[in-house]
Amino acid sequence: AQERYASIRDLPAETKCGTRISLQMNAGLIADLPSLAGSGAEGVGLFRTELQFLIRTQMPRRAELSALYARVLKAADGKRVAFRTLDIGSDKVLTYMKPNDEPNPAMGWRAIRVGLDKPGVLRMQLQALLRAANGQPLTVMFPFITQMNEFRAARAEMDKAIARETKLGHALPSKLDVGAMLETPSLAYAPDAFFEEVDFISIGGNDLKQFFFAADRENERVRKRYDTLDTSFLSFLSLVIKRCEKSGTPLSFCGEDAGRPVEALCFAALGLRTLSMRPASVGPVKHLLRRVNLDEVKAVMDEAIANGDQSVRRAVADWLVYQV
Ligand code: PEP
Ligand code: MG
Repeated sequence: AQERYASIRDLPAETKCGTRISLQMNAGLIADLPSLAGSGAEGVGLFRTELQFLIRTQMPRRAELSALYARVLKAADGKRVAFRTLDIGSDKVLTYMKPNDEPNPAMGWRAIRVGLDKPGVLRMQLQALLRAANGQPLTVMFPFITQMNEFRAARAEMDKAIARETKLGHALPSKLDVGAMLETPSLAYAPDAFFEEVDFISIGGNDLKQFFFAADRENERVRKRYDTLDTSFLSFLSLVIKRCEKSGTPLSFCGEDAGRPVEALCFAALGLRTLSMRPASVGPVKHLLRRVNLDEVKAVMDEAIANGDQSVRRAVADWLVYQV
């Protein structure tokens, strides 16, 4: 599939109206990194760190993790990699961690909640990341932040890790960006201070959609009832975009929907400028973005909303037929 889009691989994802969209890729293994050059992605917008923990029978050591993250950064060859700290717990059970029996694991003790309650692993991971960067720029994001105080507590762990590294005389990243994943509606209503304190926000659309519509992302029967292009969901995304614009906070979207061309187009028309997706989606999304004028897409969406449509999908798809 990547060969089909080879001719535009090194061209920017720039719309007809001249708006640049940064297309990034999601990854989780060293083996994914060659796709960075192959797909034409500008960076890794989401590096899921869970896999390294899941494939082992014991907790990985800091030195091992640090060597692995250093290999990821080397393979990225100067392109930005947003490392997401461990999103584990409940359903993703580590054999070496005491199992936790919860009736609703997706809404349970997971991700940053575990990281803050039992900070040993989070601290080890942050230290491994700082050492892997070894003086180069580093980007880290915390999963499943639902309120400002969780971000502050996680950020404080990063600050402690930096203080420790400084004391040990290790090189610090030349630039450090620390962000939050917005995966629950609550975070969109956090105080202004939150938007000013985060270096960036990345929307985890898979989880966000599940909590927005109260529809289990693993349950096909209910998941499919709700369209990502539902006007209420888009209205919510617009609110997040507006708040980020007001505070100057860089915003990206890294759920599966970012890699679906019509969705990506609508997100760009709403104002999102960074989308992270599986590598094979970069070509098709770029191909479409390069052929449209976002003001026109926005006008089609606004008209569907004014008409009271439940979703803008039909209107946008019908319009697209005559464009590409
Ligand atoms: C998401 O929730 O959209 C996301 C990117 O994270 P994950 O799919 O790993 O939960
Ligand atoms: Mg998620």
